[in-house]
Amino acid sequence: MGQKPKIEDTTPRDSFEVPTSSRSQMVDITARVREMVRRSGISDGICIVYVPHTTAGITVNENADPAVVADILEHLGKLVPQGRYRHREGNADSHIKASLMGFSLALILEGGDLELGTWQGVFLCEFDGPRRRRVWVKVIPGG
Ligand code: ZN
Repeated sequence: MGQKPKIEDTTPRDSFEVPTSSRSQMVDITARVREMVRRSGISDGICIVYVPHTTAGITVNENADPAVVADILEHLGKLVPQGRYRHREGNADSHIKASLMGFSLALILEGGDLELGTWQGVFLCEFDGPRRRRVWVKVIPGG
């Protein structure tokens, strides 16, 4: 039978705020997530990053060339334009785009740092800004 992890082996959920400045925007939060990981004191495990919103999502993509983010936002806008939908709040497109991006990431934590590809960054995806968004981080030790 496996040993049940002790309660002190886990960290509480931590969080940080991300102010956004336009209706659709991708904000590079890689450094903020790395800071949360450092604060956890855990060097190996899984880092869950979760966005508790319905019109903002989270994704990993290139953070070297800003044209990539511009292309993603422009083409999501073409794929899901603002317009007439059943949802009467006027932001149905924002809900759809957020679901397309998703609301959580599971990142590998090894040797005290996140294992990300050379060109990868973590982005909060705003689709109904400007707003103040929250990102939850939970680090689960192991491995
Ligand atoms: Zn809505």
